[in-house]
Amino acid sequence: MSIQVEQVRKNFGDFVAVDNVNLSINSGELTALLGPSGSGKTTLLRLIAGLEQTDSGRIIFHGEDISHQHVSERGVGFVFQHYALFKNMTVFENVAFGLTVKPRKFRPNAAEIKKRVDRLLQLVQLDWTADRYPSQLSGGQRQRIALARALAVEPKVLLLDEPFGALDAKVRAELRRWLRRLHDEIHVTSVFVTHDQEEALEVADRIVVMNKGRIEQDGTPEEVYDNPANPFVYEFLGTVN
Ligand code: ADP
Repeated sequence: MSIQVEQVRKNFGDFVAVDNVNLSINSGELTALLGPSGSGKTTLLRLIAGLEQTDSGRIIFHGEDISHQHVSERGVGFVFQHYALFKNMTVFENVAFGLTVKPRKFRPNAAEIKKRVDRLLQLVQLDWTADRYPSQLSGGQRQRIALARALAVEPKVLLLDEPFGALDAKVRAELRRWLRRLHDEIHVTSVFVTHDQEEALEVADRIVVMNKGRIEQDGTPEEVYDNPANPFVYEFLGTVN
């Protein structure tokens, strides 16, 4: 599923969070939105998801203008920084959640749900946690469950907002490699937000550098790293988190 962002703008009061952004993401790519805090990355991701509405411009999935579609109609899976798992549900119930809330017509039956959840838990290598509660898992494990939950509805697009931001450095490094492997396996068009240039360079096929609501550079990790487009990108890549 390709994504086109055309002249998209989002204000919060007088503040311009996303400033006439144009962006084109190819089907199957793993793209990083990289930039300092407050540069508009999360807002852009939420606009793509339909969690925020654009003030102007269009968002297009595979040629179709979906700017006015509700989040539930867009076919996106979303992963939040703080997992957002349901505390009172088991891991199995958490992953199954997106399937059980579908309208009856589209809802898989119990056996199909079980099959799909089992497969997803195997994919994230946590099948042994099905009957546990999120509080019994580590942060890294919780985020893998959140990923399985996002994938349960077979999203056309997977969107991840600082997915490793709440984890310590060692687990973060592990999950980066793990997200890369997972993506190589399932090839779903994915966009993740990060303020960590190492993370973007290591994980992404493509890096979109943002600053003050605008795109400063858009390219492969090699292009961005070898040829920073301007002094901002050069300096930002030189900073250590
Ligand atoms: P980033 O993800 O790059 O850190 P954000 O997209 O979260 O940046 O935020 C960009 C700017 O928009 C920030 O200055 C933030 O304070 C502001 N902002 C984001 N969401 C809201 C909101 N719901 N209401 C008001 N201001 C917001």
